[in-house]
Amino acid sequence: MSEPNFAAIHAFLAGVMDAGYATRFADAACECEGRVFSVEVDEEVGEAWWFCRACNAAYQLRDPGADGDAEYAAVDCVCTCDEAGFEVVAGVTLYGRSETARTAYLGCRCVACGRIECYASWPRVDAPYPAFFDMMRRPQG
Ligand SMILES: [Zn+2]
Ligand SMILES: [Zn+2]
Repeated sequence: MSEPNFAAIHAFLAGVMDAGYATRFADAACECEGRVFSVEVDEEVGEAWWFCRACNAAYQLRDPGADGDAEYAAVDCVCTCDEAGFEVVAGVTLYGRSETARTAYLGCRCVACGRIECYASWPRVDAPYPAFFDMMRRPQG
């Protein structure tokens, strides 16, 4: 398997994110060391899930203070080449000089063809970015 190209995803997201803000990134990695995931997102709710292709562990990313009642309606991420195995990077912009995350972005690189796309972004995370990224390091359920 080829090495993940997280740097390329960072660079792509940097071009998509609102200009003029500090940015932070977190690379998705499974506890089994897998780096390829199936991904689903709901931009309305501001939530994403990804599933390790090696061991099927599930990882969630959503605003720590988000309303749990919102109806989650997932959309599967599929590359233009019809493959759906991705390396995943979450990025945020920060408010001013704070550690508070402003807008979240989910960048995915197709491991079949190398195409990178931002599959979701949502505003007003309004939580410290370390806590936001912490969530994606632990399998859910
Ligand atoms: Zn895994
Ligand atoms: Zn592709």
